[in-house]
Amino acid sequence: MKDMRTVYLNGDYLAEDEAKVSIFDRSFLMADGVYEVTSVLGGKLIDFDGHRVRLERSLNELDMQKPEGFDDLLEIHRELVRVNEIEDGLVYLQVSRGAADRDFMYPDPEDVKPTLVLFTQNKPGLANSPAAAKGMKVISIDDIRWGRRDIKTVQLLYPSMGKMMAKKAGCDDAWMIQDGFVTEGTSNNAYIVKGNKIITRALSNDILHGITRAAVLRFAREAQMEVEERSFTIDEAKEADEAFITSASAFVMPVVEIDGVSLGDGTPGSVAKRMREIYLDESLKKAV
Ligand code: PMP
Repeated sequence: MKDMRTVYLNGDYLAEDEAKVSIFDRSFLMADGVYEVTSVLGGKLIDFDGHRVRLERSLNELDMQKPEGFDDLLEIHRELVRVNEIEDGLVYLQVSRGAADRDFMYPDPEDVKPTLVLFTQNKPGLANSPAAAKGMKVISIDDIRWGRRDIKTVQLLYPSMGKMMAKKAGCDDAWMIQDGFVTEGTSNNAYIVKGNKIITRALSNDILHGITRAAVLRFAREAQMEVEERSFTIDEAKEADEAFITSASAFVMPVVEIDGVSLGDGTPGSVAKRMREIYLDESLKKAV
């Protein structure tokens, strides 16, 4: 049997089977919750501060109170990494508006306190995944999600369906399309490369403002690479020299096939490989 993890719930460190959340919790009934995923490499947190700042923004956008423990999030992350002996892996964090009798109206924050949950996932060799050497195959699907994708809510049913559609098609993931243009991957930001230029959709409410995206674009500009933040169609993507995705858990991952069309020679492109290397090197230097 898998080792029992220690998880965090509203101020307590508990064995995972002891941590219980109410059936009235609004994240369970209404998807009224937000989350963050921070990766751990060599026992240290990657881009922790970016995730903390985005969490605060998600909470503000939904008029959700900061949970008790918000100011101690770094210590809580570190303690979970320590007690669970995570060398490489992830820390998942979720805040919900709390448990209140079912009602569309938000409960009074004086009466109902947010729920804060954190747990770890152990992923040995996270940065050396074979997928990075091989590259990913993606399909395109309609983007039928709601209009506030900039808020990192736990409404993940459509991304989940998208990944199942990709699997059924023998692929690794799906890129979503709105009005002919690619928004993002089901759990990552999407990029194409033409020549030495990196092209990715500009920030708006249509996509999640990826923490990895911000870092990768900064490193690309520092390395004197050209970056264009604009929308691109799936047809433009199929004709690109290369493509890749970014996320906290996949870092930079090359994409080698879109809807059955191979990009370049069908192997990971040089820009994607270089950005992955730079991202991992630079982020590790700043890991906490
Ligand atoms: N877009 C979506 C829809 C996502 O779910 C994620 C990952 N949570 C991302 C982009 C990438 O964001 P980040 O780099 O902060 O992990």
